[in-house]
Amino acid sequence: MSERFFPDTMPPPMADGTSLPWWEAAAEHRLVVQECGACQATRLPPSPVCPDCRSDQFGWREVSGQGEVYTFTRVHRPLGAGQAIPFVIAVIALEGSGGLRMISNVVGIDADAVAIGMRVEVVWEDMSPDLAIPRFRPTDD
Ligand SMILES: [Zn+2]
Repeated sequence: MSERFFPDTMPPPMADGTSLPWWEAAAEHRLVVQECGACQATRLPPSPVCPDCRSDQFGWREVSGQGEVYTFTRVHRPLGAGQAIPFVIAVIALEGSGGLRMISNVVGIDADAVAIGMRVEVVWEDMSPDLAIPRFRPTDD
């Protein structure tokens, strides 16, 4: 994507020691989820301890970036000057993630055409060489 989804005045996301590997994968346009090293439960966003078994051992599982719109809302108020409205904030059910959902935006389609159950795929918005934001666009299937 070459066009910015949010205004340049919007601050970039902050990475910490736990989430940095997630952001590094994103910068390479790889969507990953955290996987517990003890019980293999997946989680997102990244956290230092497994909420299922309390293990602090974990790794990263790459997912396809395919999924579907679980639910969404259309936003009719701009976040800043130059923000195109309406835009869509959606909960995306990620395929192959162990049942995880992530909050993102649906792009590349009129906001009024977004629907629950719509098949989507990840598309990356490069904010800088070190920062890419995952958004989702409809797929043909
Ligand atoms: Zn666990």
